[in-house]
Parts: sequence; C-alpha cells; structure tokens
Amino acid sequence: MTAGERVVVVGAGVAGLTTAAVLAEAGASVHVIAEQVPGVTSLAAGAMWGPYLVEPKDKADQWGQRSLEIFRELAEDPSTGVRLTSGIEASRTAEAPPDWATTLPGFRPCETTELPAGFSTGYRFTVPLIDMPAYLDYLLRRLDAAGGTVEQRRLASLADAGPAPVIVNCTGLGAQELVPDPDLRPIRGQHVVVTNPGLTEFFSEDTGLSPDLLCFYPHGDTVVLGGTAIDGEGSLAPDEKAAARILARCAEVEPRLAEARVLENRIGARPTRATVRVEPERSEDGTVVVHNYGHGGAGVTLSWGCAEEVGKLLSAR
Ligand SMILES: Cc1cc2nc3c(=O)[nH]c(=O)nc-3n(C[C@H](O)[C@H](O)[C@H](O)COP(=O)(O)OP(=O)(O)OC[C@H]3O[C@@H](n4cnc5c(N)ncnc54)[C@H](O)[C@@H]3O)c2cc1C
Repeated sequence: MTAGERVVVVGAGVAGLTTAAVLAEAGASVHVIAEQVPGVTSLAAGAMWGPYLVEPKDKADQWGQRSLEIFRELAEDPSTGVRLTSGIEASRTAEAPPDWATTLPGFRPCETTELPAGFSTGYRFTVPLIDMPAYLDYLLRRLDAAGGTVEQRRLASLADAGPAPVIVNCTGLGAQELVPDPDLRPIRGQHVVVTNPGLTEFFSEDTGLSPDLLCFYPHGDTVVLGGTAIDGEGSLAPDEKAAARILARCAEVEPRLAEARVLENRIGARPTRATVRVEPERSEDGTVVVHNYGHGGAGVTLSWGCAEEVGKLLSAR
C-alpha cells in the first residue's frame, strides 16, 4: 500500500470500521461506503472476546490473539467501551474448558460453591467485554481522526464502490449477493438489553450446539442478556417469546435480573461460512478486491487480526 492510496472499504460493521481505521492510520486515503452505519449485526453482539466455532482454527487463533492484545490496550480508556471483566463460563455436564480460555488471566476451575444451582463444572477467567454501541462509535471517531470518510449508501455490486484501485469487501452477510458467495449463511441471534441491577461479572453457559444460549455481560449501566443462535435464519424481527425465555433463563442464574427494566432487543444474523474469508482477488478491470467477511459468531474477536491481515495483503502486492 502506498501513502495516500485511495481505498474504498465497503461495510461499516466491526470488520469494515476496524479495517478502515487500520488502513487510514497506515496512511491510505480511506472512504467507507455502507448501507448501515454502523452495521446492525455488529451492534447486536454481546460482545465477549473468544475465538469459538470459527475456522480455520490456526488463523482464527492468530487473529484472535492479536485482537486480544489490542482490546487489552483499549480497556485502559473507558471511552472505548472495552472493559476487562472477570466471570464464569459453566456447564451442566462435565465439560473441559474452552482451549482459548485457559491462557487468559485469572483462569482457574471454579469451586462448586461458586456455581449456580444445576451446574457441575465451571471456569473463571478475565476477558475483554465490548459494549458494541460505544465501541463502534469509538471506531468511527478513530477513523475520522485518521482522515477517513463515511458515506451511507446501498450498493448493488462491489464494482459500484469504484472507481478505486483497491476495494475492501467487509459486507458480512451482504457478501452473499455482492460477491456472490453461496457458502455464507445467517445464524440469527437475539439479545435483550436491561438496566444493570449491580452486576460486575459476566456469566456464560457452555450450551454446545443448542439454539438457546445463556449469557449475561455487564457494561456499566446496562447488561446484555443472551441469547439465541438459530441456524439458517436471517430475519431481524424481534421475537417477544424468545426475549421472555432469555430473561427467564438469565434470571434463574442471577435472580437480580428478574427486576431489571428491559431497554431494547438487539438482533443480528451472524455471517457464517465454513472458513473466514480474508483474501485478495483481482477483478477484470484491474481493481484489487480484498475480502474480509464470514466471521460467524467471532467477528469482534477476530477484528483487529483480520484488519491487519488486509493491510499486509495490500502491502505485499
Ligand atoms: C447475537 C449475537 C451475538 C454475538 N456475540 C459475539 C461475541 O460475543 N463476540 C464476537 O466476537 N462476535 C459476536 N457476534 C458475531 C459478530 O457480531 C459478527 O461476526 C460481526 O459483527 C460481523 O461483522 P461484519 O462487520 O462482518 O458484519 P456487519 O456488522 O453485518 O456489517 C456489514 C456491513 O456491510 C454493509 N453492507 C452489506 N451489504 C451492503 C450493500 N449491498 N451495500 C452497502 N453496504 C452493505 C452493512 O450495511 C454493514 O454496514 C455476535 C453476533 C450476534 C448476532
């Protein structure tokens, strides 16, 4: 990438805004085009750092570790929306800890007395929690400070983003049509946001492949309660029955949540693919298109590692 080179980033979710910030800070002249600013799926994330259920594993681990380093730095500034938070991931059966958790600070098996009723194993660790509305605002400010610009517009094709020597495709599920990529599929997720009745720790159940998740993430004045994971479903309409079940599951583990006031539902569709796609392609007119999409349920976790990989691919041309 040469200094001042014009780069158009399509997409303003966590993938697009992080990539745009990285490229602008490296000296490119970056323009973001996106229908939603910020992307609604990114707004809906919980979000906890954790490279789970995402392939290819070796790359995902590498991208995740790089992002973890940066989230730890960002947690020193409260205005970023990133907080290092201690909490428990627990299971009703005797599950081994997720491998990505074992190297996190404070990792240890829980005492039985620390676990809610009905749970048989659990692990405590400290991890970045990311308050997505605040964090996406922070990324927009950071991009602006680096001279990047943002335009809200729906594109019918990636070529409509040009003319530009370089286009970076961070369109999440939008890549289904824009690439087109039939390997992408949605996994719908719903969160309920409530007022914080005093929680300072997160909780997450290892629910395996169940569509019904159980987690809560405190973000200062609010708590994000989860959740759902409905494979193949892309509708973003709120489901009041699902919301009631999420609240009930969370309140069973943390009774203070039963009294919390519901503020909103956040719904997104995880852009899921057999493997995350970060790779360059040259289009017929000579434009270099670098794809960065398909992060499934780990797009926040992988965001900085993938953004830097895009920068390396452009520098290596
Ligand atoms: C309920 C839920 C919980 C989650 N929890 C976590 C978590 O704890 N940790 C974690 O790491 N990840 C989590 N995720 C996953 C994470 O949210 C996604 O992987 C990530 O947000 C994907 O980001 P993205 O930028 O690729 O997509 P998006 O946020 O969907 O952004 C796509 C962007 O592309 C734009 N776009 C698409 N098509 C077009 C077009 N034709 N023209 C113009 N613009 C277009 C959109 O407008 C948008 O700006 C969760 C997701 C959900 C739904």
